[in-house]
Amino acid sequence: MDKLIYKTAKNYINGKFRDIENKTLDVISPLDGKLISKVPLSSKSELDTAVAAAKAVFPSWSAIPIKERAQVFFRYKTILEKNLDNLAYITHIENGKTLSEAKAEVEKSIELTEFACSMPQLITGEILEVSNGVECRIDYAPVGVVASIAPFNFPHMVPHWTIPNALVLGNCMILKPSEKVPVTASHIAEMLKEAGLPDGVFNVINGDKVIVDAICDHPDISAVSFVGSTKVAKLVYIRATSNLKRCTALGGAKNHLIVMPDANTDMAATNIAASMSGCAGQRCMAASAMVGVGPVDHIIEKLCEEARKIIPGKNLGAIITKESKERIERYITEAEKQGAKILIDGRNAVVQGKEGGFYVGPTIIDNVTPDMAIAKEEVFGPVLAIIRTNTLDEAMEIENSSNYGNAASVFTQNGSYAKLVMEKASAGMIGVNIGVPVPREPFSFGGWNESKFGTNDITGASSIGLWTQPKKTSIKWNPEAQKNWMS
Ligand code: NAD
Repeated sequence: MDKLIYKTAKNYINGKFRDIENKTLDVISPLDGKLISKVPLSSKSELDTAVAAAKAVFPSWSAIPIKERAQVFFRYKTILEKNLDNLAYITHIENGKTLSEAKAEVEKSIELTEFACSMPQLITGEILEVSNGVECRIDYAPVGVVASIAPFNFPHMVPHWTIPNALVLGNCMILKPSEKVPVTASHIAEMLKEAGLPDGVFNVINGDKVIVDAICDHPDISAVSFVGSTKVAKLVYIRATSNLKRCTALGGAKNHLIVMPDANTDMAATNIAASMSGCAGQRCMAASAMVGVGPVDHIIEKLCEEARKIIPGKNLGAIITKESKERIERYITEAEKQGAKILIDGRNAVVQGKEGGFYVGPTIIDNVTPDMAIAKEEVFGPVLAIIRTNTLDEAMEIENSSNYGNAASVFTQNGSYAKLVMEKASAGMIGVNIGVPVPREPFSFGGWNESKFGTNDITGASSIGLWTQPKKTSIKWNPEAQKNWMS
């Protein structure tokens, strides 16, 4: 057997890593196609054990004052900072993104942790004397045992969208990482322990659909967060909510960048090139379709010049699996057959010395029509489909007709164009002259339409609604207060 770089991933329950006998899957590094680890496919009984541990510790963890719970995450943030280089390296190896992208991902986890430390300020209760001698107050109580189900594309950041906020707010958690990138989760568990998190508050269960379904069905799990493809987000949302759990399920995306002829050429070109190719296009915020309004050839020319500087294996990472690489290349080939014009072709990319890796070079396709699959479906690779329109209204029609609604951006120097897109785009996160309009903390993250199911966003203050329930208390202390309708 190949020597594993990382030991077989283990479940983490009640503060301990556990060996289990179950079947394992290979974990392959997309950088070179080599086996780096293995991941067990846990059975439902493993989940039951983890939920029991979390349920047992919930009364004591939730009884600790929030300011003390936040202290754990102040310490955790320092530990993340200390381990940044190693954590980034793990993400680089298991996910295939470049080392600098992996580093930026861990830095984002640090920012998310920092935000969670402000939860005591954000959930400071409300109190008012509502009638003579009678006070009403609201406290935000944790919901209990919660689950976080994560995708492959941000092994470090996506778990941090949920862990710090949910735990500081007093919940206990089961994390189900993607079986494609299971290595990071063990390190998160170890660092949380080092920060002083009590055993049982955070648990990791590795696995696939079996565990996801079991999470949705488990009677002792109160809330589920999911991040992944729309197909699975829908299944999880329906199953979790039909079992009367609260659920926020983030799905896939098809993000439109609307480019006006008056846009600053350099700014638009560099931003669009970075947006379409960052993390090899495997970002739910990646630019996927550019809608060029009127004469924008000068911008496309500069965009191609920028894209030619993006080299697989150098400043462009790998695609998660061989199957995903083939899927992306099929989209390009199909668009070509349907009459689209390939300006830059990233098919059959090979990185010298890493011939076993899965790479697609940056690909720019012009003359795409709105009915083509590449214009409508999530490609999830470094591919930009350019659709041409004559007017901004036509561009908005195309954007509005998408089933998705994660992000939309406009490149222009005209305030009226920008305002129109800000108002009319059917997406949860809008950019003006920004290619990847991820709202930084304290602003929350979440799309519209089929990019998100559920009412709360997954981060920021909006996540408080997912992880807590408001308790309203009416109080009268003094018998001498006058009798009134509330007495
Ligand atoms: P995925 O849906 O295949 O997997 C996500 C999780 O669901 C994994 O933990 C996986 O084990 C589990 N899963 C897979 N199939 C399942 C099934 N049939 N039933 C139950 N569970 C199942 O997603 P992925 O390929 O890991 O991630 C890429 C997708 O995630 C893209 O569509 C991307 O847009 C999306 N994504 C969205 C956001 C967002 O914020 N909207 C963020 C990151 C990724």
